Amino acid sequence: MEKIMLKPEDKIFKNLYNEFGWEIDNAIKRNDWKDTKNIISKGREWIINEVKTSELRGRGGAGFSTGLKWSFAPKAVGSRPHYLVINADESEPGTCKDRDILRFEPQKLIEGCLIAGYAVNAHVCYIYIRGEYVNEGRRLQDAINQAYKKNFLGKNACGSGWDFDIYIHYGAGAYICGEETALLESMEGNKGQPRLKPPFPALVGLYGCPTIVNNVETIAVVPTILRRGGKWFASIGKPKNTGTKIFCISGNVNSPCNVEEEMGISLKELIEKYAGGVVGGWENLQAVIPGGSSMPLLSKKICDKITMDFDSLIENKSGLGTAGIVVINKDQDIISCMTRIARFYKHESCGQCTPCREGSGWMWRILDRVAKRKATFSDIDLLSDVTNQIEGHTICAFGEGSAWPVQGLLRHFRKEIESRCREEPLIKKKIDNPYLVDQHLLEKKNA
Ligand code: SF4
Repeated sequence: MEKIMLKPEDKIFKNLYNEFGWEIDNAIKRNDWKDTKNIISKGREWIINEVKTSELRGRGGAGFSTGLKWSFAPKAVGSRPHYLVINADESEPGTCKDRDILRFEPQKLIEGCLIAGYAVNAHVCYIYIRGEYVNEGRRLQDAINQAYKKNFLGKNACGSGWDFDIYIHYGAGAYICGEETALLESMEGNKGQPRLKPPFPALVGLYGCPTIVNNVETIAVVPTILRRGGKWFASIGKPKNTGTKIFCISGNVNSPCNVEEEMGISLKELIEKYAGGVVGGWENLQAVIPGGSSMPLLSKKICDKITMDFDSLIENKSGLGTAGIVVINKDQDIISCMTRIARFYKHESCGQCTPCREGSGWMWRILDRVAKRKATFSDIDLLSDVTNQIEGHTICAFGEGSAWPVQGLLRHFRKEIESRCREEPLIKKKIDNPYLVDQHLLEKKNA
């Protein structure tokens, strides 16, 4: 297999570790805001086509084509204004990539907002940032102020002839507000609960107006794509899985880190080269969650060979998600780990759909029984059944996000689960029918 590795000159986030300063003057030295006016002067169609050529897919988890999403916005502004909303509600356990963009590369995001806003006909952009990111929000506000001072934002932003303003909106810390329609509800001052789709936000979004919602990393890579060309971005990685990606590596590794690498790099290479390897060595690896806690885990056998891109992870019944890689070694009790994740989803369900609201609690309680060796074999089938009852039967993808990790556990660690279960006692089997229970006790007494 050809080795995939990003060349240093192709790195987009050159200040990911804040070695060169986050301030706007330092960012300009790194080529941010270079030719922005020129890029905008090429027009909406050119921008959207170039983003389509790059084959950029959303970096927030769903992996939808960014250029295609932008093309869904109405071509002309009607009676309702258009909005651009940036999803900075980074709450997926194991994920902290947007945080480093907000802290160390904020001008890439701000410049991307202007270009994307122009492409989708929006004069106003809201950046929805999770409430816990207080320091990151302050840093971002400082960066926005610096951009205003240089006339890169505001009236005739960057000399482009386009008026453009950015506002920060803080969330209150609910995981579900990372779902785009729940985020819009929250911004409108309502409970953060996902909306039924269609209509999609591109037509009916914030305040009922056409709205494009994009993730921080997605928008932050756009200016570089347009400066270097869509074909350059598409030449990195694999077909349909192009470009660079920030991977977050945490868990049982020697040096947890964020690293920008080429899409399609091998998982083993990522962990060994950048995160100092698995604690206890590669052979001590038990499993890896490859894309944030809502993605099914992978067994070691799969981790030996898998590459990190959308398609190869789907082929292996998992997903790239946010590329939050959580490494679990053999020192961990895998069932307790997944029980904790199930508890998180039970807590974060918004409660609108019965399968998600009730099912997430069921999954947690059953897993808790398994972890404490109080479960019976019939609990395994019950657990599997609950995951199937949730999947595909809910308003938003949170349902799948809560069921998939459990399905991954059942797929790869069934033996481990079985080893903790016991046969169902006869008396419990008959408990549904009190007469039979009595009969059983009677038989036992007479014996
Ligand atoms: Fe809410 Fe869960 Fe339904 Fe999503 S799937 S709308 S989080 S109850």
